[in-house]
Amino acid sequence: MRIIEPSVTILDELDQQSLPVRIEFCGRICYKSEDRIDTKSAIPFVRKMAEYGHNSVLEMGVTTFTVTARSKDTIAAFFLHQPKYLFIDRLDEQSLLISGSVRALTEMALAHPNDPIARALVQKLETAHPYFFETITWGPCQQAAEVEVQRMSLAQVEALPREQLIKHRYLAVKFIVNRAVTHELVRHRPCTFLQESQRYCRYSADKFGNEVTFIKPVFFHEGSAEYALWAESMEAMEKQYLHLLETSTPQAARTVLPNSCKTEIIVYANFQEWQHILALRTSPAAEPSMREVMMPLGKMLAEKYPAIFT
Ligand SMILES: Cc1cc2nc3c(=O)[nH]c(=O)nc-3n(C[C@H](O)[C@H](O)[C@H](O)COP(=O)(O)OP(=O)(O)OC[C@H]3O[C@@H](n4cnc5c(N)ncnc54)[C@H](O)[C@@H]3O)c2cc1C
Repeated sequence: MRIIEPSVTILDELDQQSLPVRIEFCGRICYKSEDRIDTKSAIPFVRKMAEYGHNSVLEMGVTTFTVTARSKDTIAAFFLHQPKYLFIDRLDEQSLLISGSVRALTEMALAHPNDPIARALVQKLETAHPYFFETITWGPCQQAAEVEVQRMSLAQVEALPREQLIKHRYLAVKFIVNRAVTHELVRHRPCTFLQESQRYCRYSADKFGNEVTFIKPVFFHEGSAEYALWAESMEAMEKQYLHLLETSTPQAARTVLPNSCKTEIIVYANFQEWQHILALRTSPAAEPSMREVMMPLGKMLAEKYPAIFT
């Protein structure tokens, strides 16, 4: 067995990448197949995700648009559809600022195929990224031409006033933590998550070093009696897990794996949600293993974006 420290990384370099590259990078964490990423792998990967309907992976690509409609009624009709999982700001009577993931935008257009704004948004996306929509047959929506859509660059989003910036600027963060921490993280419902799958990953394989990796517990000092007891338990559980794998699938064998098991998760959320998460998860009431990664994350975010996180 291997014992490692927890860690946290802000994946802001992903923001410079195209939608398929970002989505592939995050999606492959589930299968721990990052070794398959090359310069040509992103589009086939996202095409497969769209085809299989593994739609949560498509949530990892959020884009911001400005929308101008010729008529105020078009804007009113769009709001009546109660758009889900989109962040929307009104710029003026006929213009909106909209941020949404590939998934949210697609589902909005599928649910309301005659809504000119919903359709114009996916049309804009489809022009640049047709592979997300190859399994969808869109009917006609003439009124989509009544709407003008512009996709915003990262630099344009970063230049938004603070109250809009915190809603429209998204950031992915990768945590390597124990499974108790990820169980708490996934309670933050407005985020998107992709996590290493114990159903797919077979830790007896060479790529995992033929062993189970555990996160060093924050609670026990190395050398203490409690730490020795913890390590002994992990060793026993690893043995049972590897034994079960001889005759069973990873999803069956994982039933003996404990909370201390190492896992990787990418959490994608806007600045506003990160502010909320940090407030809850750095407080003295938060669980110590959670604080162990959230305190450094708060510090890193304050250094990178001082106007938002200090
Ligand atoms: C110190 C601490 C102790 C905790 N202890 C426990 C515990 O003992 N047991 C336990 O179960 N949990 C516990 N939790 C988890 C906690 O209850 C929340 O689920 C978690 O912190 C997410 O926070 P939230 O509710 O603010 O955010 P989210 O659930 O992420 O919600 C954020 C926003 O999303 C909106 N939202 C999303 N879905 C809905 C919905 N269905 N209805 C209405 N609004 C919605 C709301 O506007 C809300 O403000 C604890 C958390 C902390 C920090």
